Amino acid sequence: MSDLLMLDAHCDSLILRESRGDPMDLAVADPIYQVDLPRLRAGGVGCLFTMVGDSDLRQSGILLGAAHAMCENHPADFRLCTTAAEVRAANDDGPIAIVLTIEGQKMFDERIEHLHNRHRLGVRVASITHGGGGRPELQVDRSFFGYITPEQREDLRRHSRGLTAFARESLAEMTRLGIAADLAHINDAAFWEVIEVAECPLCYTHGCCYGECAHSRGLTDEMMKALAAKGGVMGIAFYRQFIDPDEPTLGRLCDHFLHALEVMGPEHVGIGSDFDGVPRHLRTIPEDPTGVPELLEALSARGVDDATLAGIARENFLRILPA
Ligand SMILES: [Zn+2]
Repeated sequence: MSDLLMLDAHCDSLILRESRGDPMDLAVADPIYQVDLPRLRAGGVGCLFTMVGDSDLRQSGILLGAAHAMCENHPADFRLCTTAAEVRAANDDGPIAIVLTIEGQKMFDERIEHLHNRHRLGVRVASITHGGGGRPELQVDRSFFGYITPEQREDLRRHSRGLTAFARESLAEMTRLGIAADLAHINDAAFWEVIEVAECPLCYTHGCCYGECAHSRGLTDEMMKALAAKGGVMGIAFYRQFIDPDEPTLGRLCDHFLHALEVMGPEHVGIGSDFDGVPRHLRTIPEDPTGVPELLEALSARGVDDATLAGIARENFLRILPA
């Protein structure tokens, strides 16, 4: 299966480079980061959802400019894409497709014009929140982060307040514009409200299965079923803490994929590495994009058929983009 081109639905490399004062250009190889052009190529990554902003509007503007400049300066290696057809065309021609995403809308300060501007600049996936709560966040209560029992989780959901009025306005605009809503980091109450009201494409770009590892950044089986019923796609994350608290391994990561396939079906599971998004000492499995083919081999060895692997590798996440 090593000839499959992979789509990675969540990568924080540009924002990490910006925060460290390094060149915001993935063509500049640097071993301090998990993602750069040589390793994307070695890992067969054909499409990278590239995060360009979470909580700071000024920083988001800089990252948007950097992502555009990267594609302009390296046309043989990176191409900005806003539709599934453009991603396929880029992959046929050679460049890695760059799809722009934002991780939260607190930075908009409840002004929808900022969402419009991000759409004009190519953003096609937008998270509701990066986990914070209270206006101008789009959820009232912040998200819990950590290991949690099912009883605690259910109790927390019942006592948490979900979406703000601006969140509903934004979801309506995302439907109109063709931007997918990313539910990663959202609190459970807000998750269920989005499932209830949203008409835009839905995804959960980076997280794991709560049924395999009792971390709040894992979705319960009920949440996964509801997401799939809305046509949504979940990207399984590589963060060790979400895979297994004690012994995170490639085999345990495969358990999460198999669990998600079982609960959601083959058309709703993908990859969302979170490369360069987690503290360095915690890291991920695989360690960088060069290890992704090994993951697909391992899934194949566990009985995942070729059509299902193709869906995981790229096809499923293409469905949430405009055609
Ligand atoms: Zn994240």
